[in-house]
Amino acid sequence: MTSSPEPVVVVGAGPVGLVTAGLLARRGVASVVLERHREPYVLPRAVHLDGEAVRVLQALGLAEAFGRISRAAPGMRLLDAAQEVLVDFPTGARGADGFAEANLFHQPDLEALLRDHVAGSPLIDLRSGWEVVALHGRGPVVVEARDPDGRDHEFRAAAVLGCDGTDSFVRRHIGAPLRDLHFEERWQVVDLRSRVPLPLWGGVHQLCDPARPATLMHVTGDRYRWEFRLGALGQQTAEQESAETSAALHHLLARWVPPQLRPGVEFIRSAAYIFRARVASRWRDGRILLLGDAAHQTPPFIGQGLGAGLRDAANVSWKLAAVLGGADDALLDSYEAERRAHVTTTTRGAVLIGWALTGGQDRAAAVRRVVTTGLGRVPGLPQLAAGAASPRLGRSRLLARANRPGDPVGRTCPQPQVRLDGSGGTADVRIGQLDSLLGDGWALLTRGGTGGAGLTRANVRHLEVEALSTIAGPDLRTWMRRRALRAMLVRPDRIVAAVNGTALRLAAP
Ligand SMILES: Cc1cc2nc3c(=O)[nH]c(=O)nc-3n(C[C@H](O)[C@H](O)[C@H](O)COP(=O)(O)OP(=O)(O)OC[C@H]3O[C@@H](n4cnc5c(N)ncnc54)[C@H](O)[C@@H]3O)c2cc1C
Repeated sequence: MTSSPEPVVVVGAGPVGLVTAGLLARRGVASVVLERHREPYVLPRAVHLDGEAVRVLQALGLAEAFGRISRAAPGMRLLDAAQEVLVDFPTGARGADGFAEANLFHQPDLEALLRDHVAGSPLIDLRSGWEVVALHGRGPVVVEARDPDGRDHEFRAAAVLGCDGTDSFVRRHIGAPLRDLHFEERWQVVDLRSRVPLPLWGGVHQLCDPARPATLMHVTGDRYRWEFRLGALGQQTAEQESAETSAALHHLLARWVPPQLRPGVEFIRSAAYIFRARVASRWRDGRILLLGDAAHQTPPFIGQGLGAGLRDAANVSWKLAAVLGGADDALLDSYEAERRAHVTTTTRGAVLIGWALTGGQDRAAAVRRVVTTGLGRVPGLPQLAAGAASPRLGRSRLLARANRPGDPVGRTCPQPQVRLDGSGGTADVRIGQLDSLLGDGWALLTRGGTGGAGLTRANVRHLEVEALSTIAGPDLRTWMRRRALRAMLVRPDRIVAAVNGTALRLAAP
């Protein structure tokens, strides 16, 4: 890959900025990451990533390291107001993306892992304590930043990626207002550690009490997270609010922390957050793009905020690398078209589930009744709630038209663990997760000798699924046969771009 002589400037070294810089570096693109804080943020926020988001970490070579700091959650459990179990939504220990469908972790552990990774890359220049204060031009872009001693500097950037969080300076600069998806609630977020394991089930508990909806979980090691809803903003005095928080904590302690365990419990943080559902009206202006919380914010009921940011990183990094290597800038149009539709659907799903699980209003209570008494009657809702469903990407010129509901176009290609038997005897046998065989570029998977190899471009790797033996996960031959697929074109971000005839046409020179 030939890279532009100017680096990409990534604004913000949160998890999305770090992952994006890492993915660009894998494609040979140099970046300068400017982060206004001198030290990493130490308080936990995200605690859950789904398997598709872990697959993005896999692309950085960090899946195993993430496995060491996380644990697979068995699913989600709904509790009634008396904190008795209503129903379980289980999640798989190995989902279609090759990882557990629901993974719990401590966000500062993930950020430490990402910082180590970035520190080891000669293509990434991370500068902590540097605040971006102005941008000029649309590409190349001149970035003005203030260093830790208050001196101003200018960088010429091939592109600017605004990974600068909820109050994004970059978003304001490109004049992209946030579109409100009509959800605003105040929740108290409490993190605690316990010397002795607390008597919680291993998954996520949703307390469906209209008077005091709450989410509780064992995160990892000795860490636990409790979140519960507070009264509406501005409706209480500070004293009333403090009394409300103490009463709610007391209620949760009474159920989950027997008196003999209390001396071993340490409260790490208890803070009120406003959970909102908002999506930026525009994600790009020339070579200035928004990613992560800068582009969208979701209530955390299905744990998709950071996961959405990692999907943004996977979606845009290969496209930007291609543009900097000489492809048309129009390739970047597909980023917003694909990701905005996806994140709007998951955010609406989070709002619906939040309503269903926690709402006291008549309609919400009705939805909740449907979920709790008629499991599975709301299509996709249990899977979305448990973290096991991802909608299709929005339409773009990089995706063929999906013709049938089961058509995988716009979704990730399944990732089994496979053995590839080559023709060169035992030395030619390779075992691994599918992505390690697909490489970092485009791939064409064919079934039944469709003969894609002769039709593909030189930069499209061809894999015949009949040559693969499945060790774990979905068997690709069966999976493709059930969907009547003979060929499947997979993009560098593992999204299926086209199937059958369209796959071969798209892959042809
Ligand atoms: C209580 C809570 C629970 C959550 N639970 C989940 C969950 O279970 N699962 C999930 O997926 N998500 C969850 N989230 C959301 C998740 O934490 C965020 O989506 C994620 O941290 C966003 O990452 P980011 O890199 O986009 O932004 P941030 O992590 O906010 O990083 C942005 C960075 O940009 C820097 N910055 C800002 N402006 C400038 C500037 N001008 N110059 C230089 N640097 C700048 C900031 O200092 C910051 O470091 C939760 C959030 C909260 C609050």
